[in-house]
Amino acid sequence: MIVVMQAHSNDETIEHVLTFLKGHGLSGHLSQGVERTVIGVLGAVGPSGTHSTAGGLNPSISEALEGLPGVEQVLIVSKPFKLASREFHPTNTIVEVPVSCMSDGVARIGGSAVIMMAGPCTVESEKQLMTTAEAVRKEGAVILRGGAFKPSTSPYGFRGMGEDGLKLLAKARDAFGMAIITEVMTPTDVDMVCEYADILQVGTRNMQNYFLLDEVGRVDKPVVLKRGMSATIEEWLLAAEYILAQGNPNVILCERGIRTFEKMTRNTMDISAIPLVKKLSHLPIISDPSQGTGHRDLVSAMSLASVAAGTDGLLIEVHPNPDEALKDGAQSLTIPQFRSLMPQVNAVARAIGRDVITD
Ligand code: PEP
Ligand code: MN
Repeated sequence: MIVVMQAHSNDETIEHVLTFLKGHGLSGHLSQGVERTVIGVLGAVGPSGTHSTAGGLNPSISEALEGLPGVEQVLIVSKPFKLASREFHPTNTIVEVPVSCMSDGVARIGGSAVIMMAGPCTVESEKQLMTTAEAVRKEGAVILRGGAFKPSTSPYGFRGMGEDGLKLLAKARDAFGMAIITEVMTPTDVDMVCEYADILQVGTRNMQNYFLLDEVGRVDKPVVLKRGMSATIEEWLLAAEYILAQGNPNVILCERGIRTFEKMTRNTMDISAIPLVKKLSHLPIISDPSQGTGHRDLVSAMSLASVAAGTDGLLIEVHPNPDEALKDGAQSLTIPQFRSLMPQVNAVARAIGRDVITD
């Protein structure tokens, strides 16, 4: 059960609700957004008296709550994720990211257009980043990706340039007017990464790092939450719930493939996750066919499949010379490949009544 308070409700009315819950053997978890406070009700609220945190129904309690001052509505949510659920928020969430190269200055992720995000897996040098940024911008990408803090499966792999990489990303943003998305790996780095990034990325290996989720939930930057490589959709939406519960409403889910028995691809792209997540949740979902396949010759087909399935954006690795990339070269598109992909993405988007806004 969720208690949604009226916009700008005061501390006294919130306290009143909490006291009411306590009096019924329940407790409330506060999530304070910019406008509105939402209280998740925890405890035994089911008619049978069984312990239930998933939103069981006790009409007398929910009706009484609805009558309390400052309460806008009481929602019975059948899923374990509440704030992330469509039941809680029936309309699509649109995450707005300021992007100076766009004519109206903002990319709306989850809106009518498919948003293109592209760039190298990893920031390697100023020349590599600037060359890639200039090229992907020219072809219509509006958000530049690039890892400065890289999770590496092997401790001997390249782990990124750290803050120097973030500085280069900021330089590319100034030069080409794109917004920057980059990964943050630890709670202690969140403030520093926020100084440079427009969108924070939580990687697949950290989807269940709950301290990191709490921390990115407390900042005012949008967060792309990659699906854990072995995570079910429910676990993924519960991870999103952590961020939402801390008061950050700007969560973008990212399907990046899951581990299966198949070895010919790096991961198995779960295209069905895209329409399923849209049914279960109001949050936008984007697609990363680079990590999703591991092979550059499969990236275009999976990009188009994702758009056809309803993705709100594509996150694509592009490198000026993938054979020399320090990371993920095999799955990085060349610049000419990215150039040929763009009109195809546009055509599929148009076929399903969407478009791709490139400036
Ligand atoms: C990446 O985007 O380069 C990356 C490491 O992603 P993931 O966390 O999905 O593997
Ligand atoms: Mn990568």
